[in-house]
Amino acid sequence: MPFLEIEALEKRYDREHVLRGVSLGVDEHETLAVLGRSGSGKTTLLKLIAGLDAPDAGRIALGGRSLAGVPPQARGAVYLSQEPLLFPHLDVFENVAFALRLRRTPDAAVRRRVGELLGDLGLADHARKRPDALSGGQQQRAAFGRAVVAGPALLLLDEPFGKLDVETRASVQALFGRLIHAHGITSVFVTHDLKEALVVGDRFGLMDAGALRVYGSRQAFVDDPATGVRDEAGFWNALQRGDSQRDADAA
Ligand code: ADP
Repeated sequence: MPFLEIEALEKRYDREHVLRGVSLGVDEHETLAVLGRSGSGKTTLLKLIAGLDAPDAGRIALGGRSLAGVPPQARGAVYLSQEPLLFPHLDVFENVAFALRLRRTPDAAVRRRVGELLGDLGLADHARKRPDALSGGQQQRAAFGRAVVAGPALLLLDEPFGKLDVETRASVQALFGRLIHAHGITSVFVTHDLKEALVVGDRFGLMDAGALRVYGSRQAFVDDPATGVRDEAGFWNALQRGDSQRDADAA
């Protein structure tokens, strides 16, 4: 049985049918990347998993336990959005340490765990800075550290790189991808960015107007014309052929 299992999830807001029979399974240590246009229902799916809103019908189970009626803080899921949620009055170290402090983790263990994580995130030299002294990419890395420090059962990532510039975005994407795998984190990652989905996902889904299609393999995702991978590859290939033709003409 998959670690996260969702069956026939339905959600309506007023007359709008936002999720239509969404079913999926994510195995432990796996990242499911869900690609979809803005407004297709991706955030709603994550909110239902996190317990921030309730489904009209369907079932969500984590580790074999139904999440029906379980409050957000008891689900073991952490939600990370575009806006890096950091406490402005705490420095980077204490922001990342927050969940450990809540659990009254001994100070030596906090220093070791947070120190390691800040090193992995390339934030060791910024540990004593307040969030407002950080760049967008650094804030997002600190928010990621805060989300994973206490080893959540499930990480829900909602376009976490949406506000970053293109170059920062590429490096933070690659870093998150590496860390998610290195820490064996189970996650659902939603994005409208095809490349981002391909960089971060092990498994892939496409959300279209509230209906989710989950693919059996990366190749199946790439091969489906609806995901747009073929169009994208075709564009770059055509551009490259055009360039070599121009080079040949110029010679
Ligand atoms: P995505 O994350 O793919 O951009 P969302 O899940 O945020 O999509 O939204 C899907 C649809 O549901 C949108 O049309 C949005 O307006 C609607 N919606 C989302 N949340 C609410 C809400 N709380 N009340 C009413 N409509 C909502």
